[in-house]
Amino acid sequence: MLYINGEWVNAASGDELEVINPANGELIQKVAKGDEQDSKLAIEAADSSFKSWKSKTAQERAKYLRDAATYLKENIDQIAETVTKEMGKPFNESKGEIVLSINYFEWYAEEAKRVYGETIPASHQDKRLMVIKEPVGVTAAVTPWNFPVAMIARKIAPALAAGCPVVVKPASATPLSAIKVFEALHAVGLPKGVANLISGSASKVVGEMTRNELVRKITFTGSTEVGKKLIRDSAETVKKVSMELGGHAPYVVFEDADLDQAVEGAVGSKFRNAGQTCICTNRIYVQESVAEEFSQKFAEKVSQLKIGNGLDEGVAIGPIIDEDAYEKVKSQISDATNRGATVVCGGQKAEVDGQDGWFFEPTVLKDVTDDMVISTEETFGPVAPVYTFKTKEEAVERANHPEYGLAAYCYTNDLKKAYYMMEELEYGIVGINDPIPTTAQAPFGGVKESGIGREGGHHGIEEYLEDKFVSINVK
Ligand code: NAP
Repeated sequence: MLYINGEWVNAASGDELEVINPANGELIQKVAKGDEQDSKLAIEAADSSFKSWKSKTAQERAKYLRDAATYLKENIDQIAETVTKEMGKPFNESKGEIVLSINYFEWYAEEAKRVYGETIPASHQDKRLMVIKEPVGVTAAVTPWNFPVAMIARKIAPALAAGCPVVVKPASATPLSAIKVFEALHAVGLPKGVANLISGSASKVVGEMTRNELVRKITFTGSTEVGKKLIRDSAETVKKVSMELGGHAPYVVFEDADLDQAVEGAVGSKFRNAGQTCICTNRIYVQESVAEEFSQKFAEKVSQLKIGNGLDEGVAIGPIIDEDAYEKVKSQISDATNRGATVVCGGQKAEVDGQDGWFFEPTVLKDVTDDMVISTEETFGPVAPVYTFKTKEEAVERANHPEYGLAAYCYTNDLKKAYYMMEELEYGIVGINDPIPTTAQAPFGGVKESGIGREGGHHGIEEYLEDKFVSINVK
């Protein structure tokens, strides 16, 4: 179903899309497939609600967000099961995603109350200068399948807190998770039109969003390719944009690091969500003297990861999302091995009893060189290439990517080296001895072609606010 102006409705065209479980290829459910007409209706509903939503006090808006967080907490198992069925990640990871989403709702319930303006000393004694913060307006949010609840929460919680009504277009692979979030908003009695959900054809639904002049803000999470298109399409009506795009995270391990901790961290950072997160490690650089020991320990841990349906006990690696993603992983491995890389473990399609999904063995490659496709193209799958380096200068030079700049990791117990890496890595997020840095209270986002703007923390709400400068002559 679509959610427009506070009501669950079918698509105007009557079309539906099929939601498939990637673990076994089974049809889970059909949902409404919206197009331009539905998108337009949702945008108009959002626009109609704008005046009254922004006029509510911050405390009133905050209460809806807190209540939504409570609803998600009370229904966490059921929502996590939907996420796992739709996109494959292990159930515990899905629960972790819902906890993160709850944190965003709770954080922005508080942040709503801290939208302070400014007064500025004037250069003329009769003038008074101030800056007031105002919501930017109707916000269109376009989200991916890999975190089908958290990416919506990270956008709509700050938007609603700031006073912006929203229209969400979720990924076509995961509309049911999005429906769960909207069930929460419906249950807490969010006023009609303030939040709307249109699953369906990307080009039609999002096309209307970028064309429609009522939409003042586009917030997108997804591939760099689509992000660039949305920036271009938004230029016609000069919308405010924020973009959370692709990444190619390096993971640098120095010889002075706690090697066991570095191995443990690499397993989490690389293989969480079967390698399908934008901040997943893509390249592991290990200092020469410890490279062999690291690779052995790493491959040993990786080989123990249980592959299977994310709803089954103990599963650490679920299916990858679809055949295209599977083919991409396979072709990156073939390219690497054809050019001299060695498979340390994995490297093949995994067979899981009774499941006809896109499972792939978690894979470690060594003897990898910088000219292989995997060294520059985002992998988005369970493959970890290991490289060696000699000096910290070399590590930085190779770790910095010409296009991407989302997240980077470094393991060292040397404070000076940690500072050096922190300052020299050209990335929006740096984890030092920390493989999973994402948290609701800190800014998340990339530099270069990894994105524009930040989500999370007090920084995240600014993306939904405009500064209005007021100058008053008091004479
Ligand atoms: P995607 O193909 O770019 O899709 C993302 C969203 O854009 C989906 O809702 C999709 O709708 C829509 N879309 C696709 N083509 C479109 C078009 N031509 N015009 C308008 N909208 C379009 O990305 P994905 O495969 O879902 O996600 C993986 C990518 O997201 C990776 O590159 C990953 O690094 C990135 N990502 C980044 C972050 C971050 O915070 N930086 C977080 C998570 C993921 P349909 O599903 O209907 O096609």
